[in-house]
Amino acid sequence: MMTRENEVQQQRSLLQAIKYVLLESERSIINWSNFNKGILLLIFGLLMLIGHWLWYYLTFHSEYQIWLDPEYYPHRTLTTCLQVILTTCFLIIALMLRKNATARRILGYLIPLFYGLIVIFSGYTVGIYSPAVMAGTVNIVLIGFVLYEQRIIYSVSFIIACIIVWLAVLTANGQLTYAPLFSDALNQSNLYANPFWLKSMAVLYLPILLCSAVFFELILSQWRQRERKIEVLSQKDALTNLYNRRYINQFISKLIQQNRSFAFILLDLDFFKQINDNYGHDVGDLVLKRIALILKQQTREEDIVGRLGGEEFVLVLTDGDIDEALIIAERCRQTIESEKIEISSETFIQMTASFGVAMSQNLPHLHTDEVKQRIYSAADRALYVAKQNGRNQVRCDTISTTEFNI
Ligand code: GH3
Ligand code: MG
Ligand code: MG
Repeated sequence: MMTRENEVQQQRSLLQAIKYVLLESERSIINWSNFNKGILLLIFGLLMLIGHWLWYYLTFHSEYQIWLDPEYYPHRTLTTCLQVILTTCFLIIALMLRKNATARRILGYLIPLFYGLIVIFSGYTVGIYSPAVMAGTVNIVLIGFVLYEQRIIYSVSFIIACIIVWLAVLTANGQLTYAPLFSDALNQSNLYANPFWLKSMAVLYLPILLCSAVFFELILSQWRQRERKIEVLSQKDALTNLYNRRYINQFISKLIQQNRSFAFILLDLDFFKQINDNYGHDVGDLVLKRIALILKQQTREEDIVGRLGGEEFVLVLTDGDIDEALIIAERCRQTIESEKIEISSETFIQMTASFGVAMSQNLPHLHTDEVKQRIYSAADRALYVAKQNGRNQVRCDTISTTEFNI
């Protein structure tokens, strides 16, 4: 028997799955093919026709019947039936042709046009100038602009706009009845003073408004999600997934501006070029990834581990002191030295690294970039000393605090 907890868990995972498909996955609605968007549009069209018809039927069999034109009722019933049949056939044919590339391309244009025609016809029956139709058309076109490529939405909108103008001209000339669904009593009255008409406009527009709100929320969340992803990508090094030079620079600038103390540790792999020369670039990359992993494992969650480029890495340890930084650097050095990196079933590589450590200092009279430069230079000097003294060791240096005028 399913426990309450299991049920909640299942509901949550279902919601997460829906959220994933709609917003996070590469298959989210905005990335769908024009054909698949068209299928969704046809389903929307069917729901809209059925909803519209239901409102019409219920109104016709209520006390509000006086506001509807009884002669138009059978006519509209027939056209709704035809539209539903046509949309269903369109849907079935589209699904049958889903594997045909040419059909998919043509249907990508035809379906939005067909949907537009259904909307315009429904709009015409309740009055082409009515607020529900005007606001609804604007909403649908806006969604179209977000969802579809420009060439599709512009061509479809152009045809639909021409039809709207044509309907407007015919209505103005008296060749077409304005809002044939409504009785003359309603059409000739002060519409804005008629509660039935106002309610009808709200009922007809509300579903479009709700769908648009949900849709735009989806699109906006998707954009925000993408932005976050791009932001993370722009901070990371593609090979090791450590922070890149740009992020490290920004991070250090922020620490300096906040007057927070931090240790800056530069490390450079020893004789790394030989790895590339002896085993190839791929093995070199594998070693870099393994070193990145070791550095992540040897530091705390809040420490920043980055790759400045090549085989040069950096650790930024916040709010500690120089002794702590030296201990962590030494721990990393020992772990790298003792790690046997397997490159084939019999071959293992052992690497060493040299470390240069510098501690930040509060230098309020200097510009952030200047302080950053001095910290970096101090660590670089220490690293140079480590290399000169035989590599595979940790050295530290202090940053210069005097201001020199050249
Ligand atoms: P030292 O001990 O003095 O640091 O010697 P080294 O060989 O480590 O230093 P050197 O600067 O001579 O060589 C660094 C090498 O790193 C050269 C370059 O081919 C290699 N390298 C730089 N970036 C990458 C990378 O992304 N992948 C791989 N596989 N190698 C890289
Ligand atoms: Mg090196
Ligand atoms: Mg180097």
